[in-house]
Amino acid sequence: MDSLLLYINKLKALNKVMSAYSTAKFCHQCGHSLISNTINLNNVGYCTICDISIYADPKVAAVVIVSNGNEILLVRRSIQPHIGKWSFISGYVNQAEQVESAAIREVKEEIDIDIKLIKLQGIYSGMSSVILIVYRAIHLSGIPKVSEEVSEFNWFSYDSMPDLPFPYDDLILRDFHNDLGSPI
Ligand SMILES: [Zn+2]
Repeated sequence: MDSLLLYINKLKALNKVMSAYSTAKFCHQCGHSLISNTINLNNVGYCTICDISIYADPKVAAVVIVSNGNEILLVRRSIQPHIGKWSFISGYVNQAEQVESAAIREVKEEIDIDIKLIKLQGIYSGMSSVILIVYRAIHLSGIPKVSEEVSEFNWFSYDSMPDLPFPYDDLILRDFHNDLGSPI
């Protein structure tokens, strides 16, 4: 029952993301209202002034699984979305920023530690407007501290994970578990 509720909540969250994804209303060049256009079954905005189609591009986020054996360092979010929920350390990649640098930066910003990326775990896409690039990492130095984005942190073993709120979390966790013990 719990897992069904969790699933329903995830679908609701996903719907929210997807509706935000398809509601670009104004042209980013001239500010004029867009009309709706359908290209290859995708709903695309069209600006009649600039004669351009405005595609809703995906965003890219880096996710970092800082692990020690089968334990993973999670953070409790103090920002929306999903404020108060435990989560992997993650954040959006800036324009012209290397994804690896974004991963390292996000960990530093969220809990003030230095890490070493050890492996690209995978790329997760197709379930929301965000493409996730997920790295595995180890803690190099520094003592974790809370920050503006994080109210708490803790190490969790695979079989005592809290509920994770984002659409790809279960897949990421499963892949991490399946990959444990394989060569880096
Ligand atoms: Zn325009």
